[in-house]
Amino acid sequence: MKYDLVVIGAGIQGAGVAQAAAAAGYTVLVLEQSTPAAGTSSKSSKLIHGGLRYLESAQFGLVRESLHERALLLKLAPELVKLQPLHIPVYKDSKRSPLTIRAGLSLYSVLSGCDSNAYFRSLPRSQWGELEGLKQDDLQAVFRYQEAQTDDAALTRAVLHSAMELGADCEIPGHFVRAHVNPASCLVEYQSEFGFKTASCRVLINCAGPWTSDVISGIEPDMYLPKVDLVKGSHLLLPPLLKDYFYLEAPQDKRAVFVLPWQGKLMVGTTEKMHYGAPEDAQCSLEERDYLLQVLLHYFPYLSIDMNQVDSFAGLRVLPRSDLNAFSRPREVLFEVDNEACPRVLSIMGGKLTTYRATALHALAKIKKSLPVKTRIADTSRIPLSPVNWH
Ligand SMILES: Cc1cc2nc3c(=O)[nH]c(=O)nc-3n(C[C@H](O)[C@H](O)[C@H](O)COP(=O)(O)OP(=O)(O)OC[C@H]3O[C@@H](n4cnc5c(N)ncnc54)[C@H](O)[C@@H]3O)c2cc1C
Repeated sequence: MKYDLVVIGAGIQGAGVAQAAAAAGYTVLVLEQSTPAAGTSSKSSKLIHGGLRYLESAQFGLVRESLHERALLLKLAPELVKLQPLHIPVYKDSKRSPLTIRAGLSLYSVLSGCDSNAYFRSLPRSQWGELEGLKQDDLQAVFRYQEAQTDDAALTRAVLHSAMELGADCEIPGHFVRAHVNPASCLVEYQSEFGFKTASCRVLINCAGPWTSDVISGIEPDMYLPKVDLVKGSHLLLPPLLKDYFYLEAPQDKRAVFVLPWQGKLMVGTTEKMHYGAPEDAQCSLEERDYLLQVLLHYFPYLSIDMNQVDSFAGLRVLPRSDLNAFSRPREVLFEVDNEACPRVLSIMGGKLTTYRATALHALAKIKKSLPVKTRIADTSRIPLSPVNWH
């Protein structure tokens, strides 16, 4: 079969590119080796957010774009993306003072275009005790603002389903094996349920998340292998011990840690640890589990936790290789093309769940010159998304 695009991976980025490309009128085939959202896209913190903490590293463009996409997803996918009030308690020994948090939240609100969903307030002292279990000693201020929460895997399935409704083909399971790139097209070989198959395309889009380098290694002639690190982020899933949502500062290293009720559980995360093994082997280590439990018990000292009921999951961030610690590295999406003048392979690495739609549009702009002129059939900023059953 001949396609304009073959997309490898049905995580949120692959699903997003497939939807945007099909909406733009291109023919698309998606190959997913496992199930949609089998990789990082089911192991995130489940937030559709601007990324308040990225203000500290001056990633204003990312925050503005994320807040814009958040506003859009709240409209397009109301069953999948819901606002929740997050609380930021500030203590005497917190690294960030009440003034700093207030300034950050004010800037956040401005970057949202003064969207009413980005307003915040400082809770009066009389209401602090209503936040069940929260340590009150040395508490100086509590801020409340809003973020949106989702089911990341369900959102990915909804976007992929939308791509299919717009005409995209999917081969699931379909494992990319190798590709041969020539000046005019790519010949892609993959393993499907029914045996070995081939497809040709004008552009191959590599959205294999933490497996990106493996995919690039299967492309002939050899192409540049981007220097990236895989950084593991683990979450704990506990019984529903708390009903409020918190954005906390880890006492150990001052990193941000979320404590979020989610689907009848309490989710606590995340960590940042270099991962050197195969992506499928990523797991929450005992050290990470203890770190997250320490954060939780620091702020909620009276919680009683049954260790038999502590579950966990771990996802991998794809970040540009750097000497900076993972927490301080930029979170912008990385694009890598084989040839700027006439791209035949585009790899999309990292980025955010929140900005998948904008990322897909940036990706299409990068490969436009290698694609034929087509008539757009839909606009992804207007396509509603609903939960779908996936068989
Ligand atoms: C711990 C953590 C927390 C995060 N929290 C948030 C958050 O709260 N909000 C937010 O906006 N972002 C968050 N992110 C970022 C976001 O989750 C990721 O950027 C996003 O999920 C990456 O999606 P992806 O499609 O690139 O990769 P993946 O979801 O990993 O998808 C890659 C897919 O490719 C498939 N694949 C691999 N190799 C092949 C092959 N050879 N053939 C066919 N298919 C193949 C895999 O099976 C997989 O399904 C978080 C990330 C991490 C790690």
